[in-house]
Amino acid sequence: MTKPCVGPALSASCDPCEHVPDYIRAIAPYQPGKPVSELAREYGLEEASIIKLASNENPLGLPPAARVAIERELHELARYPDGNQYDLKVAISERTGWPIEGIVVGNGSNDLLEMAAAALLAPGRACVFSQHAFAVYPLATQARGAQSIMVPARDYAHDMPAMARAVTETTRLMFVANPNNPTGTFAPQGQIETLLNSVPRSVLVVLDEAYNEYLPAECRYDATRWLPEHPNLMIVRTFSKVYGLAGLRVGYALMHPAMADMLNRVRQPFNVNNLALVAARAALGDERFVERSFALNREGMAQLESGFRKLSLEWIPSFANFVSVRIPRREGKPQAMVVFEQLLRRGVIVRPVGGYQMPDHLRITIGLPQENERFLIALRDSLQETHA
Ligand SMILES: *Cc1c(COP(=O)(O)O)cnc(C)c1O
Repeated sequence: MTKPCVGPALSASCDPCEHVPDYIRAIAPYQPGKPVSELAREYGLEEASIIKLASNENPLGLPPAARVAIERELHELARYPDGNQYDLKVAISERTGWPIEGIVVGNGSNDLLEMAAAALLAPGRACVFSQHAFAVYPLATQARGAQSIMVPARDYAHDMPAMARAVTETTRLMFVANPNNPTGTFAPQGQIETLLNSVPRSVLVVLDEAYNEYLPAECRYDATRWLPEHPNLMIVRTFSKVYGLAGLRVGYALMHPAMADMLNRVRQPFNVNNLALVAARAALGDERFVERSFALNREGMAQLESGFRKLSLEWIPSFANFVSVRIPRREGKPQAMVVFEQLLRRGVIVRPVGGYQMPDHLRITIGLPQENERFLIALRDSLQETHA
């Protein structure tokens, strides 16, 4: 009888596992938003009846120009992508005014955050980031065996002076999300400028601008103007949010060419696929799509805020395409997970943020007007049910 090649080994203790370093074993894996198909399976709901407002995706879907570019590129899929990502870098360079030698393209901006950690962190080194900041910062730090220095937030926002003071002799990296996820908080440009001037040059400051394009006009700033003066600055942007390409995985970073050279040493040779490269380039040129997405988001934000006000709920004012709302406690106990479950039953997926030390909040991505409306009705009903 031939021995099955898996089977018994699955249940027995796995020897290589024993040798995985403790800092890897200690990692709590990233919790993504619940996929529509999973909810349909678990609750016996029709996929078409479910709305997902859980992952900060663009409710308008793919930009039309990107769809055309993807269709044209299909016959090239037997070939490796351009490992230098030249055409996309040229387009990014034209858009940002930063030279292509200082541009690195990633498999989602997540890939770029990981590259920064891989290039700079190791056991004995430290990374500074804020409480309630994006989950990937502690994950990327932990995966390198480095120390996480989490700085307490101020009214849910990054406390920039405290972050600057938290830098130690072994600190090599700092993550700053502006706006931040999942709080939606925003630091005006003066605060970033002061931070850059107070952090030692030996610390790479990664400014994560995933939601930059959603900033209202009066808050906009151009971080690239700090690059010439600050060789320790890296600006990270993504095509996953306003550009509507989350499923393709593509983002980019701007930095000094010498730092880009370091990141390219840890970058996988073909880290971004053909379809993502052409779609991102097309999306960059689709300004109408970005404008429509921005306008829709502003309207949707106002719609949710007005709904929250009617339900007497508090929320954290948000500068991005999502908002975190506070679910009142019941007899001192957080109710966010109870309401989350109630919403699931009604076919609405939002995001619990207990893992971000926000056990009383739920994060809701701004959807289409009819999705926002359905969410608000489901929220009202869920709250009534939990207080019945
Ligand atoms: C969504 C998000 C990203 C982008 O992730 P991708 O890997 O580009 O999809 C990066 N940073 C923050 C803070 C985010 O919320």
